[in-house]
Amino acid sequence: MVPTPKRPLRVAVVGAGPAGFYAADTLLKQNIPVTVDLFERLPAPFGLVRYGVSPDHQKIKNVVKVFEQTAADKRFSYFGNVNVGRDINVFELRKFYDTTIFCSGAESDRRLGIKGEDLKGSYTASQFIGWYNGHPRFRDCQFDFSHEVAVIMGQGNVAIDIARILCCTKEELAKTDIAQHALDVLAESKIKEVHVYGRRCAADAAFTPAEIKEMAELADCSPVVSPQDLELSPSSLKELEDPANAFRKKNLEILKSFNSFVPGTRRKKFVLHFNRTPVEIMGGSQVEKVKFEINHDGKPTGQYEEIGCGAFFTSIGYVGMPIEGVPFLPQKGVIPNTKGRVFDGDGPVQGWYVCGWIAHGASGVIGTNKLYAQETIHSVMEDLKDLSACETPDTGKLLALLKEREVTPVTFIDWKKIDAYEIMMGLSLGKPREKLTRISKMISITRR
Ligand code: NAP
Repeated sequence: MVPTPKRPLRVAVVGAGPAGFYAADTLLKQNIPVTVDLFERLPAPFGLVRYGVSPDHQKIKNVVKVFEQTAADKRFSYFGNVNVGRDINVFELRKFYDTTIFCSGAESDRRLGIKGEDLKGSYTASQFIGWYNGHPRFRDCQFDFSHEVAVIMGQGNVAIDIARILCCTKEELAKTDIAQHALDVLAESKIKEVHVYGRRCAADAAFTPAEIKEMAELADCSPVVSPQDLELSPSSLKELEDPANAFRKKNLEILKSFNSFVPGTRRKKFVLHFNRTPVEIMGGSQVEKVKFEINHDGKPTGQYEEIGCGAFFTSIGYVGMPIEGVPFLPQKGVIPNTKGRVFDGDGPVQGWYVCGWIAHGASGVIGTNKLYAQETIHSVMEDLKDLSACETPDTGKLLALLKEREVTPVTFIDWKKIDAYEIMMGLSLGKPREKLTRISKMISITRR
C-alpha cells in the first residue's frame, strides 16, 4: 500500500511497555502518513518501567518522560484496559489495522523444574516483583517473611533486585514508590540472611557492576562472599581478558572488595554462592531447605550440600506468554521472527511484526528496546509496498465493537488522571507516588 494523508498507514501496537512506546515513536518518526493505536491490557501504561524496575531505582523511571512525548503526538492514541486476545482477537484487529506489532514483553518466569518448586514459601521473581511494584495481578499474593533465611536462585540483575528489596531497611523503602501493602509486610520481615546462588563460577555471574556494588551501600546489610568462591579456573581467567567480558572483570573486582568489607553494626547479610545447582526444594508443606549439587569447573561433582530457609525465590530469567492466534515458540518463550517479521511454518505473516523481549527474549536494559524498535520498523518500511490495506480503517468502529463487549478503554488523558491521583497520594506519604493496585479503582478515578 501507499499511505496518503487521507489514508495513512494504520498500525496497532500491542503492549505499552518500553518496546511498544519505542516502536510507536520510531514509526511516528518515519517520513510517511501514519497513525498508531497502542493497546495495553492494564489501565496503566509503561509495563516494565512501572511494574518491573525496582522502586529504589527511580532515576531509571525518568524514561517515562520520553514515552509521554510520544503519547502527545496527535497521530498516537492509547487504549489501556484492552486485552488483545480476550477482548478482541488478533484476526479482528487485522480488520482495523494494516499492520500489528506485538510488544507484549516477557511476563512469566522460567522455572527450574525441580521437586518442591510448588511448596508454600517458594516464589517466583515475577510474583514478588509484581507484588511490591503494585501490579494488579499480584496484588493479593502472600509472602511469609517470618523466617530468618531467604534463598534466591539465579544471579542476574533481577535476583539482585529481589535481594536488595529484602535487605533494605523500612526507611530505605519508605521513600520509594514501593506499594504500601508490600512495605507493610517487608517492614515486619524477620529475614536476616539472603543467600543468592549461581550454578556457574563468579566470573559467569549475569549481574552488572553498578547493581552488585549497591549491595555494599545498604544501611543495614553487609555483603559476604567466600574467598574460595572467587578462585577461578585458568579458562575462566582467560575469558575475562576478552573486552566483551569487561563487566565480568569489574564484577570480580567488586566481589573481591566484599572480602575486606567491615560489617560494623549492620545486621543483615547478603551472601553469594557460586558453582551450585539446585536439585530439590525440601519441606513438608512449607519450604524448609534447599539441596544443591556442587559443581567444579562447570561440571557436577556428585557432592551435595543443603541450606535451611523459609523462603525460596526462583529468578532465572523471564519468558514471554503466547497470544492466541500468534505463532509462538514455547521453549524460548518468544514469537518466532526474523528482524521483527513474525514467521509461521510457511514464512513471514503479512502485516504482523514483533519487537522487544517477546521477540528476542528477556535480556538487555530498557534502552536496548530502542534498537529492537529500529530494526522492526525498518522491516515494516521495507515491506510497505507489498502490504494489503485493512478492510475497516476506522478506530471509531473498533471502539464501538469494544463498547458492545462492555470493554472500557482507558485513554492517555484518563491515565494522566490516575497518574495525578497516585502522585497526590504519594505526597502525603513522602513517596514519589502511591500506585493504585486495583483495576476497578483506576477506572473509577478516570470517571472523575
Ligand atoms: P538474566 O540476566 O538472564 O540472569 C538469569 C540468571 O539465571 C543467570 O544467573 C543464569 O545463570 C541463571 N539461570 C538460568 N537458567 C538457569 C537454570 N536452569 N538453573 C539455574 N540457574 C539458571 O535474567 P534476569 O536477572 O531475569 O534479568 C533479565 C534482564 O533484565 C537482564 O538483561 C538484566 O540485566 C535486566 N535487568 C536490568 C536491571 C538493571 O539494569 N538494574 C534490573 C533488572 C533486570 P547462567 O548464566 O548459568 O545461565
